[in-house]
Amino acid sequence: MSGKAGAIAIDGQAAAGKTAVGRELALRLGCPFLDTGIMYRAVTWLAIKEGVAMEDERRLSQLASSSTMQPSDQEANGLVLNGITLGTELRTAEVDQHVSLVARVSGVRQEMVRQQRDISARARQESGGIVMVGRDIGTVVLPDADLKVFMVASPQVRAQRRYDELVSQGHPADYRQILDNAMSRDRIDSQRADSPLAQAADALLVDTSDLTIDQVVEKILERLGSPVGRTVR
Ligand code: C5P
Repeated sequence: MSGKAGAIAIDGQAAAGKTAVGRELALRLGCPFLDTGIMYRAVTWLAIKEGVAMEDERRLSQLASSSTMQPSDQEANGLVLNGITLGTELRTAEVDQHVSLVARVSGVRQEMVRQQRDISARARQESGGIVMVGRDIGTVVLPDADLKVFMVASPQVRAQRRYDELVSQGHPADYRQILDNAMSRDRIDSQRADSPLAQAADALLVDTSDLTIDQVVEKILERLGSPVGRTVR
């Protein structure tokens, strides 16, 4: 399937399973994967480290435009930020709490979108496609994507999945805090003025509440019309 995937945009609510699905889909299609959420998390991590206030739009925008980012080859779900590889640092409760405030700043978004389009253009040239996940991929970053998917799930299912993931990785986890954070991020992400979380008119809506990762991947592959889509593992 390598070389034929085109651009696939996956958007949706916090913890709806976008990253797990996107990564598996990219693996099956033989094309690169980009989780754009970690880019906003990286700006947030830098802001916390450098003591920049979440209301200081000018400095947040400067942080974004002076940063270079590439997905990490070494760390799964990692990012190389200005030459430093980051992984679990980007998924702390502190970053979770602040990331949506950073992501609503237009200057930050403009720079992230620019870098995401560059990464996509390179991937499409070198590998014939890319799977990109986020909140505004189908609506803003890649409006000409070959396939758009919008993923939702019940808040309880999403919180339970994130809780199980953290516990299985040996991290401390608080179900109530995870649920509150996911709901609060969805609210801020949906209500912001610049590129809010929204389903593109031409996106396939998938409710993942009662589906496994593989079942969601199969649904997307079926829609793509790929022969890989008929192989249930
Ligand atoms: O996907 P993830 O939950 O890691 O994203 C973290 C946050 O980054 C989101 O809650 C949202 O505020 C922001 N984000 C965004 N646009 C994207 C990807 C993520 O605003 N394309």
